[in-house]
Amino acid sequence: MVKTARRAARAADVADTTPAEVSSGRNTRQRRALLAVMAEHPDFTSAQALHQRLRDKGESIGLTTVYRTLHALTETGLVDSVRDEGGRQHFRARPTTEHQHYLRCRLCGFNVPVASRALERWARTTAADLGFAQVEHVVELTGLCAQCQARGAMSE
Ligand SMILES: [Zn+2]
Ligand SMILES: [Zn+2]
Repeated sequence: MVKTARRAARAADVADTTPAEVSSGRNTRQRRALLAVMAEHPDFTSAQALHQRLRDKGESIGLTTVYRTLHALTETGLVDSVRDEGGRQHFRARPTTEHQHYLRCRLCGFNVPVASRALERWARTTAADLGFAQVEHVVELTGLCAQCQARGAMSE
């Protein structure tokens, strides 16, 4: 996943960070700034647009760092990412209140919220039939996204 994210970031912009920055306090502050900007605009947004919003707020942050931070946040589940038809990624802060299931790519960490009404109904009725209350569930779907499948086919 990391490899993919780095490659995408490098293609999109010149490198503006050093490895030493990764574990520094600056990194934490940039994460927080990015999440704050995303919280203001709950819709899916491109990395470029998020980068612009950060710059508008006077945050000195490179596009490469925005990409890297977004991918790290996607990995930890704080951010959702989707791709448009052109393969461009869009990001949003994962809503914390709404119950949602995700399909996640094992290779690149790309993840999409999925419809789960049938699953929710099944969980509710199955639990109720067995006399359970306050039932919770965790369902994780993983696979290979279309782009990783295409990459795999190309390299064969
Ligand atoms: Zn993938
Ligand atoms: Zn559910």
